[in-house]
Amino acid sequence: MRRPLTLPEAAKKEMARCVRCGACMKVCPVFEVMRREGGVARGKIALADAVLRGDIPDGRLYRYFLSACLLCGRCASSCPNQVDTPLIVQAARVELAAKRRGGALKRFLLGRVPSSLRLTGLLKTARALRWLWARRIPRESGLRIRFFGPRGERRIIPTVATSFFLERELPRDFAGPGMRVALFVGCVSNYLRPQAAASALQSLQAAGACVAVPAAQACCGLPAFGAGDERSARKLLRRNLDALLPPGAERSWPEAITSPCASCAYMLKQHLPELLGDDPEGMARAAELSRRVVPFSRLLSTLSGWSAEGPGREVSGPARVVTYHDPCHLSRGFGEKDAPRFVLTRLPGMRLVEMEHPCHCCGHGGSFNLTHYDLSRAIARTKVERVLATGADLLVTECSGCWLQLNEAMQETRPGFEVITTAEAAARLVDLSKEKK
Ligand code: SF4
Ligand code: SF4
Ligand code: SF4
Repeated sequence: MRRPLTLPEAAKKEMARCVRCGACMKVCPVFEVMRREGGVARGKIALADAVLRGDIPDGRLYRYFLSACLLCGRCASSCPNQVDTPLIVQAARVELAAKRRGGALKRFLLGRVPSSLRLTGLLKTARALRWLWARRIPRESGLRIRFFGPRGERRIIPTVATSFFLERELPRDFAGPGMRVALFVGCVSNYLRPQAAASALQSLQAAGACVAVPAAQACCGLPAFGAGDERSARKLLRRNLDALLPPGAERSWPEAITSPCASCAYMLKQHLPELLGDDPEGMARAAELSRRVVPFSRLLSTLSGWSAEGPGREVSGPARVVTYHDPCHLSRGFGEKDAPRFVLTRLPGMRLVEMEHPCHCCGHGGSFNLTHYDLSRAIARTKVERVLATGADLLVTECSGCWLQLNEAMQETRPGFEVITTAEAAARLVDLSKEKK
């Protein structure tokens, strides 16, 4: 097996294909609000080029603009040469983070927040109480970065689950007939929204899959990777590789791996083999794991039990309007837009009304939401307007990051507005089918 390119090698190859045409300006959501060359792909490529050549006397401006990227990939899909700007930005972030040991994000990742709280004495009691909330979340989880970084005090924090999903009694091994599916849970579904993971498990089982939830899985590593902390991301991915495809136990490996979060799935599919490609044994297993990852709605809609279930029951009276937000990692990463809509159109008593530009990023973008909070809120506000313009009272998405961002934005504007994941929508159909029997 040939060694995959390292991140800087792959980035340099991509950079060489940019012809500086500026077509990316028309589509970049960050450029739309920032209006500066450093906000758009072309500008970021020039900055990343300097970073990767080691040609930066003062890194501050570089950090500012290179962190101002959602990694949403819209530029790549409109670029005449399909230049992979997210990959280039990612490589430059890793380089910058390596140069700047002890940066704020890194401190959060390393779990040194309590000592920094004591040292500075700047944060208020309420913030300290939030830390009590956070103590239940492990140090390596991406959630630590999101809610306890700068501006964390302004966040609407979802209620932490009374029992974490992965601590529940769950099927750990494959027992019984049906396609063997491993469920990767992700931090949001584990700590904040266990109903998303429970719904994924329930609907996959109802569709005829034999599902196992490996206990040793960890955060997918995307928040760490997005912040440029390649080392932490690798560590988490190695743990996940061993949990999902244990070495020497090929016969018990799952046929498919899925997650209620499309971003977690994308991290496992795309970045896991890229980041673990340096050791020969790990490389082969990483390629195997990547091959088995399927986004949740795509997997569900192909399982025989699900497709045979037929349309839901007719409900008299006015239909409830639902709208759907396409997560970047699902629509552009996996190229999947139809499967989640297929799930939603099966829901009885629901009418799917598309919002304007459902594929535009919600503004979450991993560490972008932390380092450029105001830009992130501005992008989310546009999304909220588009959601409300549909007349919907239910918003569905298939990524935990999008769910966090959209739920927060919707609650600010319309308290009580329901935002759920595709897995939860699917489980509602399963519940209705049970009622019918
Ligand atoms: S990234 Fe693509 S669209 Fe943007 S300037 Fe380069 S070649 Fe043109
Ligand atoms: S990945 Fe998204 S935010 Fe980043 S430069 Fe491309 S379009 Fe802009
Ligand atoms: S990327 Fe996935 S696993 Fe990681 S923090 Fe976000 S939701 Fe959780």
